[in-house]
Amino acid sequence: MIKTPCPICHKDMKDHDKEKLDKCLWRFAREARNPVAYASREKLICPVCEEEMLDHKISEADKCVNQFILDVEELF
Ligand SMILES: [Zn+2]
Ligand SMILES: [Zn+2]
Repeated sequence: MIKTPCPICHKDMKDHDKEKLDKCLWRFAREARNPVAYASREKLICPVCEEEMLDHKISEADKCVNQFILDVEELF
């Protein structure tokens, strides 16, 4: 279950329509798997384990991204 707001736009996940959801998920997946490239922007907090994405190893980031996508799909 997701209890954190969207890591990208900080709105509640339930307040997303399909189009916005796709956009946020896509951006999150891209940035979470390559946090160093996006680190100059605001911190990306993992919605799954609530740690900074920068503190994830690649394998952990992959796991969290996949888990988040599953959790989001369950919401709708
Ligand atoms: Zn969002
Ligand atoms: Zn995580």
